[in-house]
Parts: sequence; structure tokens; C-alpha cells
Amino acid sequence: MVNYMLMVTADLENIANLQPQGGCDDPNFSYFFKIKCGRCGEVSQKETCVTLNEIVPLLQGKGTAHLVQKCKFCGRDGTVTMIPGKGKPLTQELSEGGKYAPLMQFDFRGYEPEGFVFRGAWTAESIAGTKYEDIDLSGEDFNEYDEKGECPVMISNLCSKFEVVK
Ligand SMILES: [Zn+2]
Repeated sequence: MVNYMLMVTADLENIANLQPQGGCDDPNFSYFFKIKCGRCGEVSQKETCVTLNEIVPLLQGKGTAHLVQKCKFCGRDGTVTMIPGKGKPLTQELSEGGKYAPLMQFDFRGYEPEGFVFRGAWTAESIAGTKYEDIDLSGEDFNEYDEKGECPVMISNLCSKFEVVK
């Protein structure tokens, strides 16, 4: 069993913070990524997603996970379980320091994560205090003009990585 922390960063122009719509532990926010089989190394073709309020029973024994999947190539079972309560919004301070913000921790059994995808709805707050909701980061950069701060706001250069938690 290995735990991974999903870390994200971005260039934030006049944006104070960025996070999933209801915060990192938003029960309805889906985290999308590919999974790589720990036995045969096969990487799933499509992104899979896990959501805090969607729990599935384990195939064997008692217990639950957020994803139970059999590798299509070698047939090995694997699970992914989310560990909430460890995420923080990406702040301008972190972004300017070239640092990443931890969003969500995952317990991977039988699989490794590969390539997080920025889907779903995100929320951000400008330096002047304007709130932006339902931000779609899956396509182009987020660009707006902040009337309150009388300045442009932008979110660009999204980066993510999964770090092993020791
Ligand atoms: Zn496999």
C-alpha cells in the first residue's frame, strides 16, 4: 500500500487562491487520473475518477474504497481510497514560490496514479476579493477582468504531480 498526495500548481495573476468548487474535500468533486497496474504496468486508456461520496464495497472481505478495478490486461484487482482532510487551496504565495498545494491524498493498492486531469468545477478568489465559481480548467486558460480590483485575473500553466507520502 502506498499513499500518494495529489499536488497542483499554476500561474496565478491577481488571484489569491484556487481550489475545487466546494474545497478540496468537496464530497461531489471528482478527481480524474489514469491508473497504472502495479503488476503488469498497463496504463488505463481513459481517465478514471473518484469522488468522496461515491463508495464501493471491496471484492473480498469487508470494507469499502472509492474505486475497485480489475486490470484489463492481467486481471489483478486494485483499489483506490481517498483520504480527506489533508488538502489546501493553491495560494498566490505558493504559486509565486514555485511550490505546489496538496489537494487530496489517496491510498493506492495494486495501482499507481498517472497524470491528473483538471476537470470539474473550480473556484477562485481574486486579490480584491471577487469570487469566481464554476471555473472550467480543462481547456484554455481562465481569463477575466476583475471590476472590483480593476485588473485582469488569469489562471494558466496548470501543473500537477502525485507525490509518494512517507
Ligand atoms: Zn495488470
